[in-house]
Amino acid sequence: MSKFIPLSIPNFEGNERKYVDDAIEQGWVSTGGAYITKLEEEMAKFLHTDNVCACQSGTSALHLSLIEAGVLPGDVVLVPPLTFIAAVNPVKYQFATPVFIDCDDSFCLDPQKLRTFCENECEFIGGVLYFNKMPVKAVIVVHVFGNLADMVAIMDIAKKYNLKVIEDSTEALGTRYTEGPLAGKFAGTIGDFGAFSFNGNKIITTGGGGAVTANDSAVVDHIRYLSTQAKNDVHYYIHNEVGYNYRMTNLQAALGVAQMEELPEFIERKRRNYDLYEKLFDGFELAKLVPFRSGTYSNKWFYSLEINRDRVSASMREIITSLEAVGVQTRAIWGLINEQIPYLEDTTYKIEKAPYYAERILNIPSSTQITEEEICYVAQKVKEVLEGFDNE
Ligand SMILES: *Cc1c(COP(=O)(O)O)cnc(C)c1O
Repeated sequence: MSKFIPLSIPNFEGNERKYVDDAIEQGWVSTGGAYITKLEEEMAKFLHTDNVCACQSGTSALHLSLIEAGVLPGDVVLVPPLTFIAAVNPVKYQFATPVFIDCDDSFCLDPQKLRTFCENECEFIGGVLYFNKMPVKAVIVVHVFGNLADMVAIMDIAKKYNLKVIEDSTEALGTRYTEGPLAGKFAGTIGDFGAFSFNGNKIITTGGGGAVTANDSAVVDHIRYLSTQAKNDVHYYIHNEVGYNYRMTNLQAALGVAQMEELPEFIERKRRNYDLYEKLFDGFELAKLVPFRSGTYSNKWFYSLEINRDRVSASMREIITSLEAVGVQTRAIWGLINEQIPYLEDTTYKIEKAPYYAERILNIPSSTQITEEEICYVAQKVKEVLEGFDNE
């Protein structure tokens, strides 16, 4: 039997089948039904927030956030270069202009560079920040791999320059501050908007799906309205705005309610497995496990190894292929978004760390059902492969 340890796969050990069967039994499979409301309530309770809207995807959650933030054609939105492209595409849906600001060592937005961009590259006139005469409306902050961005510093800058903060918390459900002025606050509930994803590789999944919250409960209600084709009257088809078909279905939500029941257990396993990897890679000279921000409790969704490029010059492709051959699925961090064809013309600001990490970070298996024995196997094989490429 040949070994295969996947990178990150969904876990359905709970009530998933029971609830999905129930939704089918009741005939409520589409964008209405009790599981949708239940999922929204459970998420709101978990995140200590008032109101959550369940929608079709993390991408639609981000798009609705931008619409609600008032981002219009010709506006500027500050975005990260090193993340999944879905965090940035909705800026283009609004015909707005992205400006890429570099990340720090957490892979999240660098607040220092955000500040110097606003101070040195923009003008602040009458309460509005302008870049090249275009109003800068919002900043999209991604909590990469479940790590928290430095929200204390970022919120301070956003407040100073009247920027709406959209937290892309698609990878950080359950991550929160434990220390400092934001202690107790969850990723996605600190800025103006928080977007979540329940895609198959995320910490919980509904197949495809997402959710959005906002610091103003009435805004979430309006997002829910927009997500259901802006229907003002259910029976007579009155629509006072242009809406979207972005609402989650009851079938997806049935899965989601079951997954929410297991979320605390999933987070515990992710954290325990991370600790084991940490022990196994301790003192290894060719790669080190990247830590999560101190003063936070992270969901530790994805684990990153930083490869020592002084010693290992093999390409990511060579490393990944060698590990695949011994049954260990890994992946490289993303290609930089500012280097993708639709974004080549867009402005970048001090992009230094993003390309540095792009050629050093390897993600290793992090599924919640991975066993200790498998983790030991992964660590051993990663070490063997990297030692095989050691220049010394
Ligand atoms: C997964 C993900 C998204 C998009 O979520 P979907 O549900 O797939 O639309 C957006 N941003 C980041 C950082 C993601 O990882």
